[in-house]
Amino acid sequence: MDSLDQFARDKLAALAASQLKRRLAPTRSADAGWVERGGRRLLSFSSNDYLALSQHPQVKAAAADAVMTYGAGAGASRLVTGDHPLIGALEQKLAALKGAEAACVLGSGYLTNAGLIPSLVGPEDVIFIDALAHACMWAGAKLAGARVRMFRHNDMADLAALLRAHRGSGRRALIASEGVFSMDGDRAPIADLAALARDHDGWLLIDDAHGLGVLGEEGRGSVQAAGLGAADVPLQMGTLSKALGSYGGFICASATVIDLLKNRARPLIYSTGLPPASAAAALAAIDVMTAEPARRAKPLALARRFAQRLGLAPPQSPVVPLIIGAAGPALEAMAVLEEAGYLVVAIRPPTVPEGTARLRFCFSAAHQESDAMALADIIAERIPYRRQAA
Ligand SMILES: *Cc1c(COP(=O)(O)O)cnc(C)c1O
Repeated sequence: MDSLDQFARDKLAALAASQLKRRLAPTRSADAGWVERGGRRLLSFSSNDYLALSQHPQVKAAAADAVMTYGAGAGASRLVTGDHPLIGALEQKLAALKGAEAACVLGSGYLTNAGLIPSLVGPEDVIFIDALAHACMWAGAKLAGARVRMFRHNDMADLAALLRAHRGSGRRALIASEGVFSMDGDRAPIADLAALARDHDGWLLIDDAHGLGVLGEEGRGSVQAAGLGAADVPLQMGTLSKALGSYGGFICASATVIDLLKNRARPLIYSTGLPPASAAAALAAIDVMTAEPARRAKPLALARRFAQRLGLAPPQSPVVPLIIGAAGPALEAMAVLEEAGYLVVAIRPPTVPEGTARLRFCFSAAHQESDAMALADIIAERIPYRRQAA
């Protein structure tokens, strides 16, 4: 065997030995909330489609119309010929939603953070980042080449101490955290982060991939839900791919910062623009989201009822982790639920810290209270879990 295949085989064997090997499982979304996988119909609690908008008739029609009118792809970078007017309309709508001057849409949430962070800070600067921040913020930090200081998850005393000790080591400073943490469902103390950012001349970046649509008035997200705005959080990042049911990422900021990003963010400059259909779907989804308070309230309400039934701490978002511990038992728990007709994908390291493998439940407007209760009953009966979240 040549060295390349030998390398791949060794790596895969090591992953398999520690129960960390992953496998793609072809999955079709059927009706909202339901999927088909391995020839079975399962009720899914693993999609981030919180408002079930990926299957909403108005959203699908907007995407289909855009495909028929404008075609399937953008054809080039936005800076060449890929800047469809729908993207500009979407940026205006996102900026208004977040109370910011302007917005920039990129190919995905991952690309947004990977492009944004190196556009703002570099080797002479310092980034303070929450230990549980999403992989794409870490990727952005790495690409930036800045010094990185990790603070303990949501620990403002730790961040304050790090700022006192290390803020001076960087010309500019970025402070990066999430509105709602993707794997734990807890929220960041955004007001405290904003105060520390102000005191130390740090630029606060909040990734609110999981807050949009389910928190704040009209689903504006975590920053608005905390009673804050663009003056407190100058960099509000989000994705079109979760509650909005489409695909793509965005950043809201001042018009000047957005202008700079459009000149410097490499995933905007060197990658093809968002397909018009994704922009059209996101535009339609924002309309449905802002118009339907009951749809927005349902995911968190269901998460709370579910957690109550299992004696878990009250959730702060529609994401509820059930900590199992080791990777093997987490996979076994997933199999038990799958057998019972539910899809709840086990989340293992390195996505979550060692020893905190878990089932991650995402509640959505597509679920019924009876679904959440039946699921909780099966878990209580058959799955050994830790009552305390990690
Ligand atoms: C999903 C996610 C992203 C990436 O967004 P995509 O649009 O899926 O690339 C970024 N940050 C957080 C916190 C996420 O959960």
